[in-house]
Amino acid sequence: MQPTPSVDPDASDLRPPGPDECRFCGARPAAKVTFRGHQGMILIMRFLHTDGPFCRDCGLAVFRSMTAKTLYQGWWGYASFLITPGIVLLNLFRRSRVARLEEPYATPGLITPQSRPLDPGKPLYQRPAILGLLLPVALVAAFVAVVASDSQTGECVRVSGSRGTVVSCSQSHQQKVIATVERDSDCPADAEGYMEYNGKVLCTRAD
Ligand SMILES: [Zn+2]
Repeated sequence: MQPTPSVDPDASDLRPPGPDECRFCGARPAAKVTFRGHQGMILIMRFLHTDGPFCRDCGLAVFRSMTAKTLYQGWWGYASFLITPGIVLLNLFRRSRVARLEEPYATPGLITPQSRPLDPGKPLYQRPAILGLLLPVALVAAFVAVVASDSQTGECVRVSGSRGTVVSCSQSHQQKVIATVERDSDCPADAEGYMEYNGKVLCTRAD
C-alpha cells in the first residue's frame, strides 16, 4: 500500500505577490519602480532593467547592484559614454521611492522567489565600483594624451642649411615650436616661421 503523500492543506491558497507587494519577497509596503543598468561594449551595448514592485530592502539591493555595475561596465562606447550618466542619475532619482518606504513586513500566504527581503549591502559610495566614476575622466585624459602626442608644440627645431629638424629643447636649437596646425595660415601672429612636418605645419619662433 502506497503512503498517501502529505499535502499542505494551505498550499492551494498560496498566491504570487500582488501589485502592492515586493516581487522578490512579497513584503509590504512596496513601490512600483524600475531600476536600469547599462553595459557599453565598444560597438554594441546592452540595456538592462529590473521592474518592481520592491520593498525597501529589495529595492535598495537592486538599486545598488545595478548602479554599481553600470558605474564600471557602462562607459565603454561613444553612445554609452553619454547614456551611462543618464542611467545613473535616473536610478539615483528613483532610489528615494524605495528608500523612504517603511521597514518591510512579511505578507503570509505567498509564493515568492525570496523567503525574506534581500540584503541591501553596502551603500554605493562604500563600494569599489564608485571608482568607476573616475573612468570617464581617465578615458578623456587618455584621449587628450593621444591627440596631444600628435603635436610637437613645446619641442624645438635645429636648423641646418635649409633643413629643420625637430629636437628636444635640451639639445642645441635655434627655434621653438609654438603651435602645431593644419595650414601655415593658421599659425599664431607671434610665429616667425613655419616648417612642414609629418603632414602638419609647425609654427616656430626664435628661442
Ligand atoms: Zn522585498
